[in-house]
Amino acid sequence: MPMVTGVGTLENSTMNEPTGRDPESPHAGTASSGGTLYVVATPIGNMRDITLRALEVLRSVDLVLAEDTRRTRALLSRHGIAAGLLSVHEHNERARVTHVTQRLEQGEDLALVTDAGTPLISDPGYVLVRALTQKGLRVVPVPGPSALLAALSVAGLPTDRFVFEGFLAARGPARRQHLQTLRSESRTIVFYESPRRLAAMLEDAAEILGGEREATIARELTKIHESTYIGTLAELSRGEIVVCIAGDVSAAEVRGSADLEPLLRALLAEMPVRQAVRIVCHATGSKRNTVYELALALKSTDA
Ligand code: SAM
Repeated sequence: MPMVTGVGTLENSTMNEPTGRDPESPHAGTASSGGTLYVVATPIGNMRDITLRALEVLRSVDLVLAEDTRRTRALLSRHGIAAGLLSVHEHNERARVTHVTQRLEQGEDLALVTDAGTPLISDPGYVLVRALTQKGLRVVPVPGPSALLAALSVAGLPTDRFVFEGFLAARGPARRQHLQTLRSESRTIVFYESPRRLAAMLEDAAEILGGEREATIARELTKIHESTYIGTLAELSRGEIVVCIAGDVSAAEVRGSADLEPLLRALLAEMPVRQAVRIVCHATGSKRNTVYELALALKSTDA
């Protein structure tokens, strides 16, 4: 497989080599022949949420690949940028690969943007980026807004581990089947959802994941009518939204109990169950019932 300088594989990894470029430059990165595709995040509502580097890259590239050229033209015009634009969307992305490859091979720098947020995140770009990385061409992120992370950052749900499920299926049976697979997911689950389907989606989620699950609806983030609803979901019917649902806490407890096992087993060899359970709860903050049940299970299997 061709190598991309500075990305590397486990077998043949290379560190980023000095390029002789200004590290503050929007193009700071690694040297290689051919141009670079910059994957540039754009605002998800508030037009001021665009990074200095994104503007510099958009201003300096030879061509901007845009999901919707009219929308991107409007964004660029706000910043006085008159870049050339070429549409790249879900229906023509595959057909554009050859053309984009040739331009990069000729040494041009290109930028990829979508209508809002980070390209490839429930947006076009994967087919193109996959093809270019496979050919060893250089693809560089210019990070910025994404509704997924913006929502998680204010959801008030655990963020140490989460799973992003994108959009659920539009049709009821497929949607319910997808939700079934997430019943005992212990990580926070994040979905994108359209306002039209929100009510049906929440109804199915409550039925399948349990009505008592905490959830956060993050709606119209960074826009004038931005709102986040935690726990109460009834009035939600309009606006673009992200849904975050708490993971199955009992599944996390069970998984966590595997980590307690060595300590508990060692203590049980030295002392009575009650004392061992008390020490483990004190040391780890685990629930007494969980530790007690684990202790009884260990005792019975060791007997
Ligand atoms: N690539 C984008 C990103 O990085 O966030 C997501 C694109 S996806 C086609 C659009 C979905 O993202 C919307 O249906 C909605 O679920 C979510 N979304 C986008 N902008 C949002 C906003 N301002 N507030 C809440 N959700 C938003």
